Amino acid sequence: MGAELAEYVIGPESLPRFFIWTLGCQMNHSDSEEMAGALLAAGCAESGSLEDADLVVINSCAIREAAEQKVIGRMGQLASLKRARPGTRVVLTGCAVREDNRPALAKRYPAVDLFLRPDEEPELVARLGLATPTAPGLMAGHAPPTLARVGRSVAATADRLPGTRASAVAGGTIRRESQWEAWVPVIYGCDKTCTYCIVPFSRGPERSRPFDDILAECRALAWAGVHNVTLIGQNVNSYGHDRPPEERFADLAGGRTLGRRIDTTGRPDFAALLRAIDALRLEGGEPAIPRLRFVTSHPWDLTDRLIDAIAECPSVCEHLHLPVQSGDDAVLHRMGRQYSAEAYLHLVERLRAAVPGIALSTDVIVGFSGESERQFEASLKLLRAVRYDQVFAAAYSVRPGTPAARLPDDVPPGEKRRRLNALLELQEGIGWELNRAWVGRRTEVLVDRADQPSAHDLGETRPPARGVVRVSGRNRENKLVHLDGGPELLGRFVDVRIERAGPYSLQGSQVGSTIPE
Ligand code: SF4
Repeated sequence: MGAELAEYVIGPESLPRFFIWTLGCQMNHSDSEEMAGALLAAGCAESGSLEDADLVVINSCAIREAAEQKVIGRMGQLASLKRARPGTRVVLTGCAVREDNRPALAKRYPAVDLFLRPDEEPELVARLGLATPTAPGLMAGHAPPTLARVGRSVAATADRLPGTRASAVAGGTIRRESQWEAWVPVIYGCDKTCTYCIVPFSRGPERSRPFDDILAECRALAWAGVHNVTLIGQNVNSYGHDRPPEERFADLAGGRTLGRRIDTTGRPDFAALLRAIDALRLEGGEPAIPRLRFVTSHPWDLTDRLIDAIAECPSVCEHLHLPVQSGDDAVLHRMGRQYSAEAYLHLVERLRAAVPGIALSTDVIVGFSGESERQFEASLKLLRAVRYDQVFAAAYSVRPGTPAARLPDDVPPGEKRRRLNALLELQEGIGWELNRAWVGRRTEVLVDRADQPSAHDLGETRPPARGVVRVSGRNRENKLVHLDGGPELLGRFVDVRIERAGPYSLQGSQVGSTIPE
């Protein structure tokens, strides 16, 4: 090849080694899988660490102030990496990048070269000048981003994402984090109006993926041997209301209440989607995807149809994450949550009647604007009443741009910490008690990790001996289970007898055989 052409040849040695730092929820992790896949398809290599990368992509979370502070705290390190290697580029994406805060981003994140809103992530490769015929990125031929009014702000919509996801699935360019477990987005954005939440402003209004695209992705995953699929979205329960009506869904009753009364006649719903995925079967009649999970569910949209589908589909796991946020009606009202504590408890009763033994987890915010001691105690009371298997609790932090930012943040930080600790302490006792009830039982664990366990994992005070490798995984109820064994168990279903219980995990021994052998 002539020397004069050399400058036009992109060889692997001149392409950046990338590192994606993902914070936050499963949706971010799934988005990062798409970005990593696009960069690999463009010929870039993945770096094992941020320090060795020429391209750092930060997929940020803005749900709490602490998550944003983590990224801001890395700006100094990133700036010195760029000084040491001037070719290094830093991209910031995820919920920290919104249409209405663009002007302030460069000041807040000085080491960042390129800001991409979540709906712009498919443009990553093209915007970095790394597009090739095999990895064209998203520029020409695709519709420009669309904007929508959300409250007093303007947010970008996810209009393009169902199409770019379909292209990535068809092109096989998603770099999945696991061979046995997969995330499948079903709906982007959120139409709810929780006053503390930034998501409706960062990800825009709800956009559901086409029903058949989701089914095709699940079918391909089953074919590839994936054992556990988690359907994801900010509120998966409202799936389908924005899809066009179709004859095959004509029997679905209209006028569902999805935070507002809208005509959903003839449109698919999440229950129909669960049933269709569950109906993918092997020759012997077993579900092609043995474990089907979904997250996150807004209680308002947890319909009887959906509870029936959870109960009747053998692949749907006996675990539900159902965020409650507070146990007090006045606080729930200020949060814009659209249900009362009593209605929530009634839902839990219906769920437990339909799916005996179902494990429940939730999110709780303490110290929200105006939360009194009595109102905080209502949250403790609700925890005692429901007895969750797991609670993700956080002290309230104001998110600029949200409706709640106009309310006083009047619970002092020390008091928020006290409430958080009290709630976590209560939950630790409940979780431990529920876990102790597993001792002596047999349960099926899908092993997904093999490593040196920590003393905390083992519920011991002294660290384990060097070289000790243990494996861990989840049962259908989403309990974390540790057991003896090596990497040969990864990706296998193991029959385990539970011998010990801690507040956050179980320990057991393998009994019987593994599947697949
Ligand atoms: Fe945020 Fe509420 Fe939507 Fe969840 S349901 S993403 S908390 S607005």
